[in-house]
Order: sequence, then C-alpha cells, then structure tokens
Amino acid sequence: MIGIMGGTFDPIHFGHLRPALEVSERLSLSQVRFIPCKVPPHRDQPMASPEDRLKMVELSVKNTPEFYLDDRELRREGASYSVDTLKSLCEEFDEPMVLMLGADAFHGFNRWKNWRAILEMAHIVISCRPGYKIPKLESWASGRMAESVEELENSKAGKLLFMEVTQLAISATDIRRQRLEGLSARYLMPIEVADYITENQLYCNAQDTDSSQSIEVNNIIDLERHAVLSR
Ligand code: ATP
Ligand code: MG
Repeated sequence: MIGIMGGTFDPIHFGHLRPALEVSERLSLSQVRFIPCKVPPHRDQPMASPEDRLKMVELSVKNTPEFYLDDRELRREGASYSVDTLKSLCEEFDEPMVLMLGADAFHGFNRWKNWRAILEMAHIVISCRPGYKIPKLESWASGRMAESVEELENSKAGKLLFMEVTQLAISATDIRRQRLEGLSARYLMPIEVADYITENQLYCNAQDTDSSQSIEVNNIIDLERHAVLSR
C-alpha cells in the first residue's frame, strides 16, 4: 500500500513527518508520497511560494528511504483537488492507496469535491492523539470503519481506520506566527528546513527583509556554523 500525505506544508514540520512515519511503519507501506498542494481549495492561500514549499519537503524526505516528494499538484493547473490527484496516482501505481489525514482534516471530509469517488480509490487513515475519543460518526462513515490493519489490506479501498500516533502539538500557523515575531523555527522540523527558512528569510515581515537585517541574520548563521565546526 502507498501512503498519500497531502498538505500546504507552509512549512512542513515534525507534526507531518512523525505521524507519517508511524502510520507507514504500522501499515508496512511501500512508500509515503508527500504532495504539496498549489492552490488549496478549502483554506487561505499559502504564504511561501510553491517552489519554497517544494524545496522544504524535498529537504525533509531525503533521509527517509520510504518518503518521496511528489510535485504533481504543483505541476497541474488550477485548484488542487484530492480526487484528481488520486486518479492520477491510480493510473501510475498498481497498489492500494492510503490517504493519511489528521483528525482536523478528516472533519469535513464529506464536503470535499467528489469525496465518494475518493473512497472508491483509497482507504483513509486518520491519525489521532492517544486516548482520542472517536466522535459519533455519520452513517456514511460508520459503515466503513475498520478495526485492524488487516481489514485495509484485505480490501482495495473505502475503509476508514483511526490510528493513535505520538502527539506533536506543532502547527505551521504557529511557526509562521513565531517567525513574524522574529523567533526561530528550529527543532520543530528537520534542521535543514529551519536553516532554509532562515537563509531565505521566509515568513518574515517586510522590515526583516531589508539588506542590513539580512546581513545580520546571515552573520548569525555563519557564527553558529563556525561555532559548531570549531568545537
Ligand atoms: P496550518 O497551520 O497552516 O493549517 P498545518 O500545520 O495544520 O498547517 P497542513 O498542511 O494544514 O499543516 O496539514 C497537512 C496534514 O497534516 C493534515 O492532514 C493535518 O491534519 C496534518 N497535520 C498537521 N499538523 C499535524 C500535527 N501536529 N499532528 C498530526 N497531524 C498533523
Ligand atoms: Mg492545517
């Protein structure tokens, strides 16, 4: 089975990466494809450019063999609908698909475009915090609930599985807010991504991007690097 991890990734952080790894290991997925969306249909537009979001995902997946960056939504014109993405994945791969969603993203799934068609093409694994009480499900969902990984393996698509994962209370919104206050993004994401954010002055407000400030920021990075190298 192939895991599909979609998101704006504005920026990507450990709250995306760790649950994806835990789900991948417990379902013995052959791979997890991280798919940054270009124009999210259900929310505000991302702050960072598609190129920067893509680069940050690329930096995040490169050290985990089963993780892949998939740029198909960024290459497609117009809004990013999961139903279109899944269609194109099903054409390319001959393996069952598992859509990976956080509990917040799953809430409202039945308002997504052609959500019934999505369930014909993929299972959904909803990662939730330990002790999470599964809400009373509407009838479209309750009939699809799986109790075990085997149930997913034994059918091609359409099952829902709630899976407890290590809870990391990290959100991209908080990271952007902290950056706007001039704070660091370190240790909330792979170090390469935090450095990319600093080096490219992402999520800063306008006054942080003037040249005098940028020299100062770069000097701090150089100093940090120098300190590490000379230890
Ligand atoms: P934003 O704050 O901008 O909404 P985000 O951190 O929620 O960003 P998204 O790109 O919206 O990230 O989320 C992509 C997917 O990752 C969604 O399915 C979401 O539920 C899940 N996700 C995001 N953060 C976490 C987290 N800390 N733990 C588990 N799942 C998460
Ligand atoms: Mg979100």
